[in-house]
Amino acid sequence: MKEIVIISGKGGVGKSALTASLGSLLAEKHRVLLTDTDVDAPNLHLAMGTRLIDFQEIAASDKAFIDYHLCSGCMTCVETCRFAAIIAVAQPVIMPYSCEGCGACALTCPEQAIAVRPVVNGRINIYATSGLSLVTGQLAIGGSSSGRLVDQVKRRARQEAENSRAEIILIDGPPGIGCPVIAALKGADYALLVTEPSATALHDLQRVVEVAGHFRIGMGLVINKADIHEVSRRKIFAFAAKNRIDVLGEIPYDISVPKAIANGQPVVAAYPDAVSSRQINRIAEALLDAVPVMT
Ligand code: SF4
Ligand code: SF4
Repeated sequence: MKEIVIISGKGGVGKSALTASLGSLLAEKHRVLLTDTDVDAPNLHLAMGTRLIDFQEIAASDKAFIDYHLCSGCMTCVETCRFAAIIAVAQPVIMPYSCEGCGACALTCPEQAIAVRPVVNGRINIYATSGLSLVTGQLAIGGSSSGRLVDQVKRRARQEAENSRAEIILIDGPPGIGCPVIAALKGADYALLVTEPSATALHDLQRVVEVAGHFRIGMGLVINKADIHEVSRRKIFAFAAKNRIDVLGEIPYDISVPKAIANGQPVVAAYPDAVSSRQINRIAEALLDAVPVMT
């Protein structure tokens, strides 16, 4: 089984739309499980026209709780908390959105009145669409520990992939370079990078390549909306060459893509003859060359 993670650094460059189309194309030749690890804003299911078949609440975050029967009101915990998550009123009060679950207050409380317990910080949704299953993570509003939630999403995805004997897990990664991205990359075989010709996208691409480089896995690059700025496009090619990253393909700006998304379909399914669809077909082939899958 191969795990391919699609990441971009910058959000909004077309990562999920590309994941939806690649998932759809790869599923013509292989058993594919799609996974959305952008737990802050999961939307791959919207781009695929799926229906929810199962969900599971996840407690992958810790919070501190005070037992006021034991509390003496000494306020040591207020001094201890480095996240300013405990405020002193008549009694100490823990602000749940600020608590990082580090446990320092529990360690220093002289009355052992504080306990740190797991709390629900999100859910895993299982969707089905024609011929494909999709596992997504969804962080609760104000939820913390998104990296740990991504870890749980990947565990569930691997379980589902094993049950369905999937040959490829195709993962829509989170934007940024923090814990969720690291959790998405952990155990992956290949990182497919997506960018667009703009200074901000290139800047974020450089940062995410640095992160992915630590995992010593193969990397390939796709340039989306490749025709919107020629100077930036050339800079991306120069960066890829310098870092020995293969450019698997370029997708021109194509109005068919947002139109397909609006209809809840990958562009390769909604408009198979569109210029973007033809390019994505080539990218899917290049991806299978870069990540050979045993059948
Ligand atoms: S340190 Fe413990 S006993 Fe002191 S105020 Fe905080 S919870 Fe209460
Ligand atoms: S667990 Fe850590 S972050 Fe939360 S209230 Fe206690 S000291 Fe503050």
